Amino acid sequence: HGEASEVVVPTPNGPVHIGEEHPVVLVAGPCSVENEEMIVETAKRVKAAGAKFLRGGAYKPRSSPYAFQGHGESALDLLAAAREATGLGIITELMDAADLPALARVADVIQIGARNMQNFSLLKKVGAQDKPVLIKRGMSATIDEWLMAAEYILAAGNPNVILCERGIRTFDSKYVRNTLDLSVIPVLRQLTHLPIMIDPSHGTGKSEYVTPMAMAALAAGADSLMIEVHPNPAKALSDGPQSLTPEKFDRLVQELSVLGKVV
Ligand code: PEP
Ligand code: MN
Repeated sequence: HGEASEVVVPTPNGPVHIGEEHPVVLVAGPCSVENEEMIVETAKRVKAAGAKFLRGGAYKPRSSPYAFQGHGESALDLLAAAREATGLGIITELMDAADLPALARVADVIQIGARNMQNFSLLKKVGAQDKPVLIKRGMSATIDEWLMAAEYILAAGNPNVILCERGIRTFDSKYVRNTLDLSVIPVLRQLTHLPIMIDPSHGTGKSEYVTPMAMAALAAGADSLMIEVHPNPAKALSDGPQSLTPEKFDRLVQELSVLGKVV
């Protein structure tokens, strides 16, 4: 499997092509959808900066059951409002197959998070529907395990799969949350035609490290970037420390444009 060298995602603003032959696709937005004002405002700001997709979690996989779990189905309605207001495609995480029908009504791309990379029954279900799927690398997954997880989706009949590296667990997490493994970019190029997205936000866990690693990802040939952006990171309900303000996201895109791969 893996014939598609690009994934084409229909969005209200038109089809977005993700793959080697196309300009780098920017995905941006908050970790969690918190309220209508913040998600619509963030959507407008990231669109103005050049993003083609808004990301935002309705269902959040949190380490602690006492941490904010996401607003669930009501957050899907807020994502629909942001989609309506901007025409951006929506990327949001599916954790439970029971939520698939509701989530697929608003999502243009369904995200499978790192923690569910090997949830094989979930993979079979997203493989058996027709929305494109973004599959994040499990935090201790080998490249072969990751590709086999993608294969579950392909084998179930869905050819539109995007691979997203978001950092792996290594021995030192004192200064960075994870180790962003950019060596996957040339390795995956040899192994698969699936498009490659890099997430330097979860990959580093610190907003000040996002720009250098985003630059490095583009230099190494990434097809797409996922960046967490929040209007007020200090008040974010999840992942504030790694989130850029819309102003910083704007600056990031300007710096990336020097590499000539963003439009
Ligand atoms: C996220 O994108 O907010 C997220 C939870 O990512 P990951 O699955 O990579 O931890
Ligand atoms: Mn997050």
